[in-house]
Amino acid sequence: MTTAPDRPRVALALVHYPVIRDRFGGVGATSVSPLNIHDLARAARTYGVAPLYVVTPLLSQQALIGRILSHYREGYGAGANPTRAEALRDVVLSGSINEALDDLCRRRGGYPSVVGTAARQGPKSIGYPDLAARMMENSRTWLLLFGTGWGLGPEAAAQCDFFLGPVRGPGEFNHLSVRSAVAIILDRLFGK
Ligand code: SAM
Repeated sequence: MTTAPDRPRVALALVHYPVIRDRFGGVGATSVSPLNIHDLARAARTYGVAPLYVVTPLLSQQALIGRILSHYREGYGAGANPTRAEALRDVVLSGSINEALDDLCRRRGGYPSVVGTAARQGPKSIGYPDLAARMMENSRTWLLLFGTGWGLGPEAAAQCDFFLGPVRGPGEFNHLSVRSAVAIILDRLFGK
């Protein structure tokens, strides 16, 4: 019987490509928002989720991410704000979802199960209690995919084994930022 991990072997990916870029369903790449990196890194660190993959194929965006990480992990920012340096410790830049999957496989010794997220109910749906229980009960590795723009593109969605049900409020309005969605979902899965 596999022993339960002391904490779930769960990683998170913030996907900037392929995502839906506009309300007409056009698929492309979005720009990286530095605030997303900081906020998601802090949430991931709080809930024991690592690594946080920041996925973009755009070299200009990779350079931006590199500057942010080096400033806060080794540069002046690290000294001025050590907790921020700690939060960003597990951020890994990735050129694609497949690159993140390969990296995670190297780290954990096996390919992860991939769970997508979206504001709309989709196929392959799984509930929070069920997923939380599966994550705690075995040594499988998991990768949670969060999109940007108008959501994960079809190619990214096709890589998901499951889709978590959308976070919903009591009303019809449902336009959470990815930062809010990540915090809510991680707390539902791993909060004390
Ligand atoms: N309309 C898009 C959708 O359906 O995913 C919302 C895009 S939102 C700006 C960016 C990302 O935040 C989504 O790809 C998803 O990962 C996450 N997200 C946003 N709202 C969510 C919700 N209500 N439930 C779960 N995830 C959500």
